Amino acid sequence: MASVVASIPDTIAPFLSSPKQLLINGSWCVAQSGKTFEVVNPATASVIAHAAEGDAADIDLAVRAARDAFESGPWSRMSPSERGQLIWKIGDLIEQHNDELAQIETIDNGKPFSVAQVADVPLSADMFRYMAGWTTKIEGNTIPITVPYAPGAEFHAFTLREPVGVVGQIIPWNFPLLMAAWKLAPALACGCTVVLKVAEQTPLSAIRLGELIQEAGIPEGVVNIVTGFGETAGAALAAHPDVDKVAFTGSTEVGKLIVQAAGTNLKKVSLELGGKSPNVIFKDADLDTAIPGAASAIFFNHGQCCCAGSRLFVEQEVFDEVAAGIAEEAGKIVVGDGFHEQTSMGPLVSQEQFDRVTQYLDLGRSAGANAVCGGDTPDSPGYFVNPTVLTNTSDTMEVVQEEIFGPVVAAMPFDTAEELVARANDSVYGLAAGVWTNDAGKAHRIAKEMRAGTVWINCYNIFDAALPFGGYKQSGWGREMGHEVLNNYLETKSVCLGL
Ligand code: NAP
Ligand code: MG
Repeated sequence: MASVVASIPDTIAPFLSSPKQLLINGSWCVAQSGKTFEVVNPATASVIAHAAEGDAADIDLAVRAARDAFESGPWSRMSPSERGQLIWKIGDLIEQHNDELAQIETIDNGKPFSVAQVADVPLSADMFRYMAGWTTKIEGNTIPITVPYAPGAEFHAFTLREPVGVVGQIIPWNFPLLMAAWKLAPALACGCTVVLKVAEQTPLSAIRLGELIQEAGIPEGVVNIVTGFGETAGAALAAHPDVDKVAFTGSTEVGKLIVQAAGTNLKKVSLELGGKSPNVIFKDADLDTAIPGAASAIFFNHGQCCCAGSRLFVEQEVFDEVAAGIAEEAGKIVVGDGFHEQTSMGPLVSQEQFDRVTQYLDLGRSAGANAVCGGDTPDSPGYFVNPTVLTNTSDTMEVVQEEIFGPVVAAMPFDTAEELVARANDSVYGLAAGVWTNDAGKAHRIAKEMRAGTVWINCYNIFDAALPFGGYKQSGWGREMGHEVLNNYLETKSVCLGL
């Protein structure tokens, strides 16, 4: 079957035809090398723009601009309230340009416009607003101290929280605007300056965001945006000796390279990495909610979610019913161009991602897995893969252990809660988990036993700027969002005054 096709809205033509440059020190500029790279619409595999290919030389200029802005620019002298108002304004501008930004996400990433419009863009605006509120609430403590070797002496001791300095941020392509918001908003709230390296597959929305950040009045050099490749621009940023901290979201494999590169000057590191999240359905769950919930847990964003519920554990007695139910949900999904109003699943982001997912489908089949639905690709030049439910899978198969990052779920039966917990935790990852049951005690027990940074009970993929998100084990270091993320961008200074 062919995928649904649509045409590109005229409204983004002016943006698409404008130059796609680097934002360095408040100005848009070409790469030092003069090179550009192609930006592709994954629904049609056609080139829609060319973006500046920043590399080490451009990263160096951007870091210098961020350093100057941090040390001597107006940003460091601005009051917390003024800083908060500027960050809030970025949220307002994102909201005002909601549909335009959603169109840019659709053409660059492939996700349905209807999804970007209600999820990616509003969540991004909310992230800036939530973080704007923190600027005036970053506080230290006063601490009573004893100092046993100085009997009788009196001290006044307290802590200050200060920005970590120049921050390098590297983000992936699955939620291009939202990942930029998750990174930029807290760093700005803490008073840091930033060099952001966006994913090569999806540079467009960050460029538009850069323009809005300028419009909001953020001083020059505070936010620098470099488009380009990971091996050159990204690696240079992670290794740069004048960067104080690197915050990375992406694969566990590249996360390990970031840690090595950061060793050059021991910059601080936070990491949001991959996952292979267990989603568990007990027989006492409300299956009318759990079945569509589990389908959405894997198929949302075409399975290109770090927290996708990609290992589905179903209590034996209801296994067949649930597997058939999820296949039925998959059958309702309309695969096609994200600009078509009927489309509920767009293409994967790139040829590379298409190849990766289809190779996993072959691997699964040759290991004996059975595709209850999907397992194939529609006839289209775009990078579409049909939603797939695999059964007859076992815990040790590659399709069960490794992150596929596509619309493919491996469903497996289980017999007891004890067995289930051990199997669910049998992963190098620990990002998220889901539990579906009507037994509140059981839900809480299982939630406690899951080695994962987020556990959703009778829901999945619920995100909020106030709720911390991040990984146990090889899913990462540190947390995004909530007040916890501030720790990624603040130092603590102890001050002790002899009275
Ligand atoms: P990736 O290959 O690790 O790329 C992520 C970013 O790192 C991109 O900007 C990439 O640049 C850059 N990069 C690549 N090699 C680099 C290097 N040697 N040094 C510095 N930077 C480098 O990941 P991906 O395949 O694009 O994204 C999917 C992965 O992200 C999945 O594993 C997913 O689970 C994870 N993810 C995690 C979270 C979370 O919050 N935990 C959220 C979203 C995604 P290029 O684009 O130029 O290659
Ligand atoms: Mg693209």
